[in-house]
Amino acid sequence: MAGTPLNTAKENERTLNFWERLYLPEIFKGLGWSASKIWKEPLYTFQYPEEQWYPPDSYRGRPVLVEEDGKARCVSCDLCARACPPMAISMEAQEIDGPKEREPVWFEINMLRCIYCGFCEEVCPEEAIVMSKEYDLTFQDREEAIFGLERLLVSKDHLTDRLNYLKAQKNPEFSADWDYQASNNRHSMRDTGFLATLAAEAAGNGSGAEASSSSDTVAG
Ligand code: SF4
Ligand code: SF4
Repeated sequence: MAGTPLNTAKENERTLNFWERLYLPEIFKGLGWSASKIWKEPLYTFQYPEEQWYPPDSYRGRPVLVEEDGKARCVSCDLCARACPPMAISMEAQEIDGPKEREPVWFEINMLRCIYCGFCEEVCPEEAIVMSKEYDLTFQDREEAIFGLERLLVSKDHLTDRLNYLKAQKNPEFSADWDYQASNNRHSMRDTGFLATLAAEAAGNGSGAEASSSSDTVAG
């Protein structure tokens, strides 16, 4: 059985006149208002993907690895993987000859997990992983969303905006000590003569035997 229609009109509610009850004049009035905005207002939209937005340097797009002199700056210390909240980063390290001592055999970021927080960039001691300006990522399947070294490595020359931004932002906070220098990218005591200095100091203090035994331990 059909219900009784309820009249919900308020006591002092304005009644619509004939033209208003037709609705059409109001619709055309609305269309006219929109059309006037099309010509008068500045354009806020893009014809994406033909037109693309160029983000500011502070923008956090997909994380990338900095490539310098044909190699990754990364020393595979694992700090970024530890700091990453959704555990999107994984890697395997290998020892190499040279001042860096370590580099990644493979390095992966799962872009489906990445939340673009920038923590990896913040903790990296080498400025080896930074946030790029890339934001339009699309994948056909889940496997495609796992970026390996070949897709993560981006030449330092293409990241100057972000590297300069980090320099400007981080230096005031951590003093000039933060400034990235290639000579700082060495975690080895092999080339620095550090052990020899230690041994010489210890010999000067009359405890050469202890120093040489400790240097043997480290070098071994
Ligand atoms: S931006 Fe955040 S979520 Fe993405 S890889 Fe870096 S730490 Fe992980
Ligand atoms: S924190 Fe930097 S140097 Fe360490 S593994 Fe991550 S990208 Fe490489």
